[in-house]
Amino acid sequence: MAQDPTVPTRPTALPALGLGTYKLTGAEGQAAIEHALALGYRHLDTAQAYGNEAEVGAAVRASGLPRHEVHVTTKLTADAFGGVDRVRAAVGTSLERLGLDAVDLVLLHWPHPWRTPEEGTYRDAAAALAALAGESGPLRGWGVSNFLPEHLDALAADGLTAAVNQIQVDPLIQQRAVQEATRRHGAAVVAYTPLGRGGDVFAHPAVRSVAQEAGVSPAQAVLAWHRAGGRVAIPRSGSPAHLAENLAAQGVALTAAQLAALDAADTGAPARQDPLTFGL
Ligand code: NAD
Repeated sequence: MAQDPTVPTRPTALPALGLGTYKLTGAEGQAAIEHALALGYRHLDTAQAYGNEAEVGAAVRASGLPRHEVHVTTKLTADAFGGVDRVRAAVGTSLERLGLDAVDLVLLHWPHPWRTPEEGTYRDAAAALAALAGESGPLRGWGVSNFLPEHLDALAADGLTAAVNQIQVDPLIQQRAVQEATRRHGAAVVAYTPLGRGGDVFAHPAVRSVAQEAGVSPAQAVLAWHRAGGRVAIPRSGSPAHLAENLAAQGVALTAAQLAALDAADTGAPARQDPLTFGL
């Protein structure tokens, strides 16, 4: 069963539900990713920093699915920031680890706005990614992650438009100003840590009552809310039951009142990992 709903991005549509693969490493991680593909996931999110690009690529190859049916996103650390040569080499490293001929999206993982031009800035790296993506080579598209409005403004001033901005969004941490700026700049919002890693989000009274009323699990209520809000969500799980539950959430439709109740759970807090200080 292939996923139906997609969110349009350049150059291809991005399946609205993806599998986050942080911590899915080794044989066990690869088996979980293969299981997800067998269930119908068609979008995998990895990063150089996760140390599992090899497992992600091996799972895609083992799935037997045509390559074009699976969307693979990876992310570059700041080591790759710089001109076209440095960024091309970093993309090549990811392709080698993935063992794939092409990668659908490469994101700049964090903006690292303090970097000097001599060190290589996110603006240089974004320009290089845009140039590489325009070559009809192995890089199909590019985007950013953890970018704040001012970083998106800087890219726009350089004439650069990312396909996506992958940011932390859950019912308690909605980052509305960042979501709004992302869309204003023509990029799709990809919600990471979309379940808030369970915990406080699943225990929140609004999430509990919406889930109960809709007859779904808290995770499904939150994923249905992301989808209704036009966000791509990339929940992580290694558990077959949770993988299936999260995929099935694509068929859950919440009422306007239920969506409003989840919207109202926003604490207005910034992302837990402040991109200005986080070291990735
Ligand atoms: P998440 O919100 O996806 O939560 C994951 C936790 O929820 C796991 O403990 C999992 O076992 C549990 N879970 C999943 N489905 C469940 C279900 N149906 N019922 C109950 N529990 C369930 O958190 P995450 O892993 O931090 O984020 C998801 C993905 O986002 C990551 O794997 C990674 O790919 C991406 N990410 C990106 C960045 C970035 O800087 N760009 C940062 C963090 C995460």
